[in-house]
Amino acid sequence: MKILCKNKEQEIELAEGSSAKDLAEKLNLRGPDQSLAAEINGVIKDLTAPLHEGDTVKLLDFEDPKGKEVFWHTSAHVLAQAVLRLYPEAQPTIGPPIENGFYYDFANLTVSEENFEAIEQEVQKILDENYQPVRKEFSGKKEALATFGHNVYKKELIEGFEEGVISNYTQGEFVDLCRGPHLPALGKIKAFKLLKTSGAYWKGDSKREMLTRLYAITFPDRKLLKEYLFVLEEAKKRDHKIIGPKLGLFSLQEEAPGMPFIQPKGMIIWNRLIEFWREIHTKADYVEIKTPQLMSQQLWETSGHWTHYRENMYSFEIEERHFAIKPMNCPGCMLYYKTLSHSYRELPLRIAELGHVHRHEASGALSGLFRVRSFHQDDAHLFMRPADIRQEILQVLGLVEKTYSTFGLPYRLELSTRPKESIGSDNDWEVATQGLKEALDDWGQPYRINEGDGAFYGPKIDIHIRDALGRSWQCGTIQLDMALPEKFELEYMDSDGQLKRPVMVHRAIFGSVERFFGILIEHFVGKFPLWISPLQVRVLTVADRHEEYAQKVCQEIRKAGLTCDVDHSGESVSKKVRSAQLMQINYMLTIGDKEAENKTVALRTRDNVVHGEVQLSHLIDLLTRENKDRSLVSYFAKEGQHEHNCCQ
Ligand SMILES: [Zn+2]
Ligand SMILES: [Zn+2]
Repeated sequence: MKILCKNKEQEIELAEGSSAKDLAEKLNLRGPDQSLAAEINGVIKDLTAPLHEGDTVKLLDFEDPKGKEVFWHTSAHVLAQAVLRLYPEAQPTIGPPIENGFYYDFANLTVSEENFEAIEQEVQKILDENYQPVRKEFSGKKEALATFGHNVYKKELIEGFEEGVISNYTQGEFVDLCRGPHLPALGKIKAFKLLKTSGAYWKGDSKREMLTRLYAITFPDRKLLKEYLFVLEEAKKRDHKIIGPKLGLFSLQEEAPGMPFIQPKGMIIWNRLIEFWREIHTKADYVEIKTPQLMSQQLWETSGHWTHYRENMYSFEIEERHFAIKPMNCPGCMLYYKTLSHSYRELPLRIAELGHVHRHEASGALSGLFRVRSFHQDDAHLFMRPADIRQEILQVLGLVEKTYSTFGLPYRLELSTRPKESIGSDNDWEVATQGLKEALDDWGQPYRINEGDGAFYGPKIDIHIRDALGRSWQCGTIQLDMALPEKFELEYMDSDGQLKRPVMVHRAIFGSVERFFGILIEHFVGKFPLWISPLQVRVLTVADRHEEYAQKVCQEIRKAGLTCDVDHSGESVSKKVRSAQLMQINYMLTIGDKEAENKTVALRTRDNVVHGEVQLSHLIDLLTRENKDRSLVSYFAKEGQHEHNCCQ
């Protein structure tokens, strides 16, 4: 039989009755390519699943997010098995994979970190036993209940299942209710680490029982675990929740959960980000609008948010009319578009809005600036003719490049295509997807295609950035929307005199400004490049008699448009330097007798590089350029080798 192998993009001949595992063996995938499961005609299955003539097959490895899911999902069963061996009274409930690893929730279990080692040892025993999980299907709910009915949680799950296949997987003495798919053998798991434990409500419902959650992670290679633990340690040192308040950038208050307070120093960074945003968008021919926070419920019914997103919206009644705070900016922009009539001549129309939105997130999910209830989006909606898609997307990609490269953040692009459930005609999808594809091809950077992962209303490009620690964050998104223009009956007059629906694109590059701010804090570990640094220069006096000259230096620097202050505390110079370095001030200028007399300053960076005496005018010239160029590196570092040219 012939199957189409997506890994090789070619047809492959296999013996009748072959499985995905046979295909993997035929392709001789080894090492990091090691196959974990297979996506057969778009459905992820066990590697042992049989193949049929004409199937489209993609073998999934650990590099593939779907492969990772199978890996961690299988690992969760191993954790449950180990826990049951040590704590036979515990009752396993559910154990899904998450972004980094997986967890398993247990009833009737009390453990603390002291027990982790014993559990890890038991897990290792199970891995050494190298079971091959065996899938079985129940004849129906009745049989499933006979096996799992003693566990009230599994019982509740089974009773809640819609009609369809109910399956279980057995590994050794342990059997678990599970949809699968699973790894072909547990021996593929080479490294296991329990990360933490916490309480968690059954079904996330605070009215239900509190369970014990165990978080863990596994890898197909011990080296990968080592790397992960290193990143975890580093991430702790960079935690924006600690650095941010310490540097006076933002705070969170109990009175407003998930709604950050940006403090004066944080506002300096914020405003610089927004100036940058406004500058590049004005150049790219965007107009900017501001729409209300609060709009009638009816608007959200038209947009569909009231049906699909109500749970996350804050809404209330005023003068017997229902209103909601906007969770997204789109409907406001639609109303603006409709206030005018549009001709094809003014398309593409690019409308930006730095929209302040509120979305309800469960209190347990809130995390610093990363997961909030109140945030700003660098949103924009682009209206165009179908023929403009390619060119417009290309322009947005240009803005993406400009934005991320300014912060030294590399990124990758992913195109998500039509999902099973979608609206719009085949032709619309074809034109839209082709437009995005062509733009990506023109752009020339490699990109990944996520088949079927698009929104129900259109295909999209997601942009993932990589920070200094190698962590990946999805920030930017470019989404084509075929639904909203229809729902709001948007029109433009085309060159043939016909009224037509424009194609609309939602796009954001920072994503949430708050979250991007948090990412920058961690990426730079608080050592911001000069142009976004809350305090760029500090003048340190050696003695009181240098105060007058110090003030003059400070004024000159401020006149040049840089931020500067003077530390005239009675502390020693070394203490002043130390405190400026802790605050991550970019440059320190020490002033003593020699500098006062020569009208110079002694320059030092926060990384303790001492540049010695520098002419004030030269210093200001270089710093102004570094600031204006939005440079990521100090211009003094660059100049290091010909330092003697500028110093006396
Ligand atoms: Zn499973
Ligand atoms: Zn939108």
